[in-house]
Amino acid sequence: MPELPEVEVTRLGVQPHVDGKKVSEVVLRRDGLRWPFPANLRELILHQTILATGRRGKYLLLHFAHGSLLIHLGMSGNLRIMPSKTPPQKHDHVDILLGEQMLRLTDPRRFGAVLWHDNADGSLEEHLLLRRLGVEPLTDHFTAEFLFQQARQRNAAIKQVLLAGDIVVGVGNIYASESLFRAGINPKTAANRISLKRYQALTIAIREVLALAISRGGSSLKDFVGADGKTGYFQQSYFVYDRAGEPCRVCQGTIRHIVQGQRSSFYCVNCQK
Ligand SMILES: [Zn+2]
Repeated sequence: MPELPEVEVTRLGVQPHVDGKKVSEVVLRRDGLRWPFPANLRELILHQTILATGRRGKYLLLHFAHGSLLIHLGMSGNLRIMPSKTPPQKHDHVDILLGEQMLRLTDPRRFGAVLWHDNADGSLEEHLLLRRLGVEPLTDHFTAEFLFQQARQRNAAIKQVLLAGDIVVGVGNIYASESLFRAGINPKTAANRISLKRYQALTIAIREVLALAISRGGSSLKDFVGADGKTGYFQQSYFVYDRAGEPCRVCQGTIRHIVQGQRSSFYCVNCQK
């Protein structure tokens, strides 16, 4: 599943090709994906200029003067830049043509989404799908003090608190496991039993792990394809994720696998307390 780094890599990849470009045509080959496409999507953006790209959680945003298009890649989607004349393949559902080039949404499993937020309906942050999202981990709003304060009411395991996404977005299963390893925190530790000092280590670790994944072109899935069609390779550098039974890269102890909230967690008992 594309996680925050993959979406950010996609945004960085498409941004130079779409910023300031005018939409010359919109092609929809279905009525919708996870949800129906906006009924008048073509009319809404045809001949309009994409002013900027953005991202909120795993939603990639295309900002226009009168509103924003929200694109979610679902379980297996990707968004790529290609020549406008490229013939569509089976899973190519949406083309946004920008003259010679186009933005093409491919989504074999069709869990993705394309939604419209009109500026007349208020601030984008208040959109139904965005307003309950936690802070962005790569912004100044994500601090150890913030995480510590928010975690005071949570007695659930820190791993599950991170995955919930209502305090901080984008720390998916892989990144939570890797960040907790780097911070030396056992994934089973209750969130409200972790000190501010340890949250300082954790916020740094989360930023580092996400930044590393973005710099390496996203993680994880074999089928993840960035805007340039290249696959990501963050997976080669995991310390604990998917390494059950293998030696810890730091202490040579054995990496353990447990299940928390039906998700796999991987950790080292020596390095993570
Ligand atoms: Zn270890």
